[in-house]
Amino acid sequence: MLIPKCKKCSKSFKWSTILKASWDWGGLKPVECENCKTVHFIKPIFRIIIILIAFIPVLFEGIIFSTFKSHGLNAYAFWFYPVFGTLLLLLSPFFIRFYIKE
Ligand SMILES: [Zn+2]
Repeated sequence: MLIPKCKKCSKSFKWSTILKASWDWGGLKPVECENCKTVHFIKPIFRIIIILIAFIPVLFEGIIFSTFKSHGLNAYAFWFYPVFGTLLLLLSPFFIRFYIKE
């Protein structure tokens, strides 16, 4: 998994730029290449991928929490979802795919 690159000039986008564009309150925002100013749109599939990944721990909740229990880490189980959510948010720019409108 690599940070996406500009489709025209191959310059890598900044992680922070993509993060802001993909988690804007107004929805998915287009990202402009710093180098050649080509506007890139985020593929809607990105949202679906993130939602699917977010549901993975829900499916394995029993296993995850019994692992915490068996290690005597019950007190930390509470932190699992906030930590997982934050990690998913921070890693989301790596899952993003762009397209260019011709
Ligand atoms: Zn470019």
